Amino acid sequence: MLHQIERWIDQVNIEYQEQRISCSKFFGEFKGFYPLEFLQQSYFVIVDTIPKPNFPELRHTGLGDFIDMEVHGITYKSTYYVLPQFASDLRLHFHELVHVAQWRHLGAIPFMERYITEIQTSGYYEAPLEKMAYAFDDHFTKGGKKIDVPNYVAKEFNKAFK
Ligand SMILES: [Zn+2]
Repeated sequence: MLHQIERWIDQVNIEYQEQRISCSKFFGEFKGFYPLEFLQQSYFVIVDTIPKPNFPELRHTGLGDFIDMEVHGITYKSTYYVLPQFASDLRLHFHELVHVAQWRHLGAIPFMERYITEIQTSGYYEAPLEKMAYAFDDHFTKGGKKIDVPNYVAKEFNKAFK
């Protein structure tokens, strides 16, 4: 099933390739948090409807609520999708970029496996991958000290797996 979802994700990203905007535009705002190179390889797309993989198999594994949940943004690999009314919401961009770092560090299949398991066992708000992203967007919004996010994410995962 994970490979099926990955194929769907790749299709979505290709479908919106022409509309994607480079996150390097946030270099000034996110200076000290996201390196330029990381932002240059990350993209967002403004969409009226957030694309979600509506697979019956996913619903069968108890992810129906997650699929139906109204979200402001979602990240698929290095591209995230945001609703028009949140297109200027820096906090949301910051949050989704944490997910880009997670996808990148873990790899697509391990990320999805982990994310789905976390949602199943802890629920969306208690899922560690989400809590990490929320903690970071909160830290950024409160004017917290500069932390290289992709580097921090990599260190956290390496710690956890040791
Ligand atoms: Zn999130």
